Amino acid sequence: MNILDRSQLRARYRITGRIVMDTALHIGGGRNPSAATDSPVVRDGSGRPFIPGSSLKGAFRAAVERLVPNIPHLRTCGLGDASDACANRLREELKDRRNIPEGELLTILDRILCDTCRTFGSTHLASVALFHDAPVSEVWRTLPEVPTQVRDGVGIDRDSERAREGIKYDFEVVPPQTSFDFALTLENPTEHDLGLVALGLQEFIGGMIPLGGIRSRGLGRCHLEDVRVEGVDFTDPKAMKAYLLEGAMRSESTETFIRRHLSALLDAERS
Ligand SMILES: [Zn+2]
Repeated sequence: MNILDRSQLRARYRITGRIVMDTALHIGGGRNPSAATDSPVVRDGSGRPFIPGSSLKGAFRAAVERLVPNIPHLRTCGLGDASDACANRLREELKDRRNIPEGELLTILDRILCDTCRTFGSTHLASVALFHDAPVSEVWRTLPEVPTQVRDGVGIDRDSERAREGIKYDFEVVPPQTSFDFALTLENPTEHDLGLVALGLQEFIGGMIPLGGIRSRGLGRCHLEDVRVEGVDFTDPKAMKAYLLEGAMRSESTETFIRRHLSALLDAERS
């Protein structure tokens, strides 16, 4: 069976924790015409700021991609526009072709995709890692409103977030110390996927994965705490029954999880 065939659910991991902001956070895209700011933060249906799963995934993946080139037997295309980026190589390989049988597509993906695209997804291949939208933590949900701040961003261009002379601009931020509930689901991860996720988790816990925009002004610094790792092996009938009937998952110490899978990743030879 092709290693990228994920149709049968064999294992699921759930990794949860709390993202605590060390500096203020700006994730734009909010629509709030009444807000007294040029760039409101993105909010959920109940009007509270949240961190979109796509933002978390992008930041997490970027952190992993910065480290992978230092690991001799691993390869990352870095998702760039370069002609050797996996998406471009796939487009080239699959052009003029329609209705490729699933099996053949998987063989092509297996041949072309770099290590980070295999784990975090590419065109034609879903990510092993699903990053959920992160709502503000319970303590913040009990407040009638999350107290955001508006900061002066003289000369910051709305679209590029680059400095631009002569325009006056302000933006809304979520203040430091705000926390968000982090949740990541992994489905059918290989040892390799677990290694890359452990790498990202280690960086996240260590405060090395900034989130959101306007980072050149120090925004978006945060760290992950109270991390829990749980898993279920669906190929074990007893474990599957306990999970389906009682929601039971096997938990593992976060430190052990990270050490075990990081060691496996760093010590592995290219097969
Ligand atoms: Zn790639």
